[in-house]
Amino acid sequence: MLRGACLCGGVSYTAGPPTGTAIACHCDECRRQSGHHFAAVPVSKRSLRLERQDTLRWYRASQIGKRGFCGTCGATLFWRGDEGAHVHLLMGALKAPTGLRLGAHVWVREKGDYYDIGADLPTYREGEEC
Ligand SMILES: [Zn+2]
Repeated sequence: MLRGACLCGGVSYTAGPPTGTAIACHCDECRRQSGHHFAAVPVSKRSLRLERQDTLRWYRASQIGKRGFCGTCGATLFWRGDEGAHVHLLMGALKAPTGLRLGAHVWVREKGDYYDIGADLPTYREGEEC
């Protein structure tokens, strides 16, 4: 079971277990929203239990999904596709120990030009399954 919360505590949740690989997503959308790249892990939509959601806001960033964030402190929290059974949790909001490790870099063709990606993990030019 994973537990997460935003910086101000207006949003908190439990979810899990993970249903797939934890990924670093370097797409343009993720970078603009987060200020760098996403680190996110998928869980089933049905497993997500919002304990507090007073300040939770959803932004429709694309035709295929919405991005959940805290309207007070600005924490990036969720990516939820309209289709599919999964929601991605932003791993910076998870309470330790998570027991998780990043498994892949995705959308590296849109990564920023100000950093390099090491050879430690598999890389995908576009999305893997996310
Ligand atoms: Zn907050």
